[in-house]
Amino acid sequence: MTTKSKEDFDVNLTANYNPLEVEKETQEFWEKNQIRDKLELLENDNKGVLGYVEGPPTLNGIPHIGHARGRVMKDIRYRWKSMEGYYMPFWAGWDCQGLPVELEVEKILGVKNKLELITQVGEERFIEECKKVIMKYHKMWLEADKRLGIFINQKKAYWTYLDTYIEREWHILKCAWNQELLEEGYYVVAYCPGCQTSLSSAEVGYEGSYKEVEDPSLYFKFKVNQSDNEFFLVWTTMPFTIITDTMLAVRPDAEYVKVKVGDELWIMVKQRVETVMMDLEIMNFKVVSSVEGKSLVGLKYDYPLKDIIPEQELLEQKNHLVHTVIGETFVDVDTATGVVHLSPGNGEDDFWAAKKRGVPIFVPFNDQVKFTDKAGLFEGVFARDADSLVVKELEKRNALVKIGKTRHEYPTCWRSHHKLVWLARKEYFLRTDKINAKVLEAAEKIEYYFSEPKNRFIAFLKEGKPWCISRERIWGTPLPIWSCIKCGKKTIMGSKKELLQKSLDKIPENFELHKPWVDRVTLQCDCCEGKMQREDFVLDTWHNSGASPFARFTDSQYEKYIPADFLTEGIDQTRGWANSLLLENIILTGKCEAPYRAFLFQGLTQDSKGRKMSKSVGNVIETNKLLEKYSADLSRFYMMRKCPSIDFMNFDLQELKRRPYQVLSTLYHLTRFFLQNAQFDNFNPKKYTIDWAEKNVQFKNVDRWLLSKLQDKIEIYTQKLDKCEFNSAVAILEVFVIETLSRLYVPMIRKELWTDDTESFNRRQTIYAILYHVLKTLTLLFNPVTPFFSENLYQKVFRALDEGLPESVNFGYWPKPNQQMRTKTLEEDFDILFKTVSLTYAARQKAGLKRRWPLNKVVIVADEKTNKALKNHEILFLELINIKSAEYTQKVSAYLKEDNWISTSEDELFTFVNIKRDTALIGEGLMRDIARRVQSLRKDMGFVPTEFLNSVNIAELDSENKKLLLPYLDEMADLVRTRKVFLYKNRNELDVNWKEIKLDGKKILLELN
Ligand SMILES: [Zn+2]
Ligand SMILES: [Zn+2]
Repeated sequence: MTTKSKEDFDVNLTANYNPLEVEKETQEFWEKNQIRDKLELLENDNKGVLGYVEGPPTLNGIPHIGHARGRVMKDIRYRWKSMEGYYMPFWAGWDCQGLPVELEVEKILGVKNKLELITQVGEERFIEECKKVIMKYHKMWLEADKRLGIFINQKKAYWTYLDTYIEREWHILKCAWNQELLEEGYYVVAYCPGCQTSLSSAEVGYEGSYKEVEDPSLYFKFKVNQSDNEFFLVWTTMPFTIITDTMLAVRPDAEYVKVKVGDELWIMVKQRVETVMMDLEIMNFKVVSSVEGKSLVGLKYDYPLKDIIPEQELLEQKNHLVHTVIGETFVDVDTATGVVHLSPGNGEDDFWAAKKRGVPIFVPFNDQVKFTDKAGLFEGVFARDADSLVVKELEKRNALVKIGKTRHEYPTCWRSHHKLVWLARKEYFLRTDKINAKVLEAAEKIEYYFSEPKNRFIAFLKEGKPWCISRERIWGTPLPIWSCIKCGKKTIMGSKKELLQKSLDKIPENFELHKPWVDRVTLQCDCCEGKMQREDFVLDTWHNSGASPFARFTDSQYEKYIPADFLTEGIDQTRGWANSLLLENIILTGKCEAPYRAFLFQGLTQDSKGRKMSKSVGNVIETNKLLEKYSADLSRFYMMRKCPSIDFMNFDLQELKRRPYQVLSTLYHLTRFFLQNAQFDNFNPKKYTIDWAEKNVQFKNVDRWLLSKLQDKIEIYTQKLDKCEFNSAVAILEVFVIETLSRLYVPMIRKELWTDDTESFNRRQTIYAILYHVLKTLTLLFNPVTPFFSENLYQKVFRALDEGLPESVNFGYWPKPNQQMRTKTLEEDFDILFKTVSLTYAARQKAGLKRRWPLNKVVIVADEKTNKALKNHEILFLELINIKSAEYTQKVSAYLKEDNWISTSEDELFTFVNIKRDTALIGEGLMRDIARRVQSLRKDMGFVPTEFLNSVNIAELDSENKKLLLPYLDEMADLVRTRKVFLYKNRNELDVNWKEIKLDGKKILLELN
């Protein structure tokens, strides 16, 4: 018999799992060996290409854990698919332009608005500063990606502000132009007075943009023309729109009434009389007559502010419908008075109602949303500031009924939080409403994984509104439309080359496709030879990122990689990127096809209390700061495990440290346990394989059970990854490590590894082969989720034992379930076995009998199937429950009701444990108690489990216990791996360093060497 000593071990894994250390080592390994670059080579040698285009983060914010969660999902897909042998162009991309960047630069430069910016700073300098700002953020994003282990190729990144990108984006616009889908026109748009630009309807709909605000609640009345005392009663929360009022609308099919209040008759919808009168605190009123809505249509009313807004008088003369009642079905008769006033310059429904009747649109506003001279007395007043002035003027003219306040949800600018104003403005639109049927058809073909985000996306697409793509800003892709100063003809440029060829001007060296350079290019008009100037707009940044499938690739790459196989972004991208990608691809190709086959909308990430992360609350967790202190693997594991990918996630640092650490640490220690033992026996994984064990009939049932379970888990785990059910996927690995492997399998085989005799050599090699196979498989399965951890174990353990393995875990083959290893009946038997074992434990606990105390008998009362399963595995069963014998029956016999039996049951399964212990059983139990203390002392003193001790010394047991223990000393020596156990009466008999321990309240002394 040889002995194992500490010196024999060459363990590559440190005694403790230190994630930060592991991650640092792995990072160095990846960099030194250029592992990520080598994955690009897969393109020439793969089983297929899966297209991908990066949803570009906007370089105007610090990466936080909300971003991190999404990036981890992308990385999981990439690593998993690469291991399956597919090539993916997993290349980075950055969204660089747009208002948020501009606003930050304005702040840095200390200017308040666009006018100051242009006059004091100048556009050239401004553009340079914008570029500096994005580079600042880019650095942070690179660091965050690196720390997180995101394997995206940074060298092949695309940037939306580069000319090469911009001109391909122009190409898409030209396609739209050629199909008459790009046009200029007056439309009512949401306009932010703070940012001084319009917003797309998608931006208006952003999560959180509707805020509760306080607004006036104004009831006013317009007198019916040529009547003495009849008035229309109207309600609004925006008194300033009375300045641009041109019509009243009623619902033609609703019943309206005249209500007598004092000497006046007020016209309103019948069903609202009680409520409105209560609101107005009017007790004395009487409904005197009723009319149908349509009979009111055509009535004229006296617009009361004509004397201070002379333009209103002119409008009346221009069109007979101005200041007339019209019928419209959009009139809501469930709120207010059922009579609405229309301001076509300030409302979308109003605009279309006027447009279809040819009523002029009255929009007396400048860029700051202040009234122009057309608004008469109100000239120079900011729209919302006119509210109180209007109320005063109404009061002077007997048109005011009641002014109060109301709190309601109102859209604000997602960026600057100003209350938005609806304005009719000249803008450029993509007429996506014209291709809505195609868009919806394409959207139906996409895989969304979950029905709720799908429904949301489709519902949004059904709105099918034209897309306002023009922005009155500077740092953006310029709108490539030039218009003739003389005749107004317009033309569009589809590339930089085309522009430079047609330019009338000399192009300077530093020319780029941005303002102000591009504005200096003039063209000649085909029709009248007049000069053409660029329309002074830049594009909505959503158009920039939506162009990415085409703009970031060459034509041939576009053919190869688009449609992308799988994309994922936050649920807030429903109206954002997911939408703009789809629309632009249909415009580009004319086909009913999205540029992606599948889109996962992820839930957003909140703080531990479920609050939105925001700068003002101060609860934003920045990725880089988090990962300075915390492990990337644990963070990745935690973010995937915590909740389903579409749920909002509450990120809790306390949770991050607990369960995820426990799981990875358990796997780490199991691997270390395997390695220690395998190294001792010079295990060679190439020689001792699963196949070898099978051929040499070395498998026991526990081994077959473990291997069978593993196959099942590989299959389900892969399916769950495919369905983006990351949390239940990770749960499968978690349960397998903690329960199946650590709690069940290893304790069942541990003892077999303690011996080092030659008869059991093959059996030990079998166990190593199984552990090598199972642990390596787990390491591969974990790789997409915890890439640092997996690479580390792979290098230090599996590749250390078999240098023939691929260079990186990322080049490893994705495990496939081997159906031949599956034995379903065995798995079922073991389920029964483990269930019965834990029932028996529960019975012991009831009687206060420790598990390590042997007992004589258990009686199982159960159905035939259960009894048969237990009989099949009786040796293992008895060993696990630590009971000498078992009896199986289907009926409870009378004797089992006696005192010395304790029972537990679940469903139809009963276990009866005989609790009587004779001196032999008590002695054996005592031996096991002491053995356990010795084992834990061994561990504390740093002996490895396989190591043999010279002797174990025990002193100061009382005489009764000594007598009980004596027959079991050899068995104990075996159990604790020592040559001999010695008993001493008194500590003075041996001059050693005794350790005092307590055993059931009594002191005894132990010493090991
Ligand atoms: Zn704004
Ligand atoms: Zn012309």
